[in-house]
Amino acid sequence: MTILADDYLDFWKHHYANVAVPEDELTDDMRASAADLLERINGLLAVFGHDRGLTSGWRPQSVNDYMRELHAKNPAAPNAARTSKHITCNGCDVADSDGSLDAFIDANPDVLEQFGLWREAPGSTHGWCHLQNVQYGSWTEGKTRTFAP
Ligand SMILES: [Zn+2]
Repeated sequence: MTILADDYLDFWKHHYANVAVPEDELTDDMRASAADLLERINGLLAVFGHDRGLTSGWRPQSVNDYMRELHAKNPAAPNAARTSKHITCNGCDVADSDGSLDAFIDANPDVLEQFGLWREAPGSTHGWCHLQNVQYGSWTEGKTRTFAP
């Protein structure tokens, strides 16, 4: 079982279906980014050897803004980075309730390079593993692919 593009693209509807998202917000470029991202993540999960679901997929800009608003009012609500990679279909949160995916990547950091992925530091992602197919701002070849937010 792999993570499917439709599941990634529609995930926001599970929690934020009340947010008005323009029909044309999802562009062909973003669909292509999502397909590329999931191909990389599914490759990594195949090496990991376990199926995983999502805890967050594509976040339309309007959903991301809404999450930030909610979090400002109630710190217990999930927060979202202003320039989240989820907005452009370059970031994905893979379910990791027991931390074993993060532990696998810690033990095998080369899998990030193998699949062209970067990961948010596990200390900031309890219950999920954030993976993205674009580098973080200060990354250069040879540096760790795990970043602190
Ligand atoms: Zn994320």
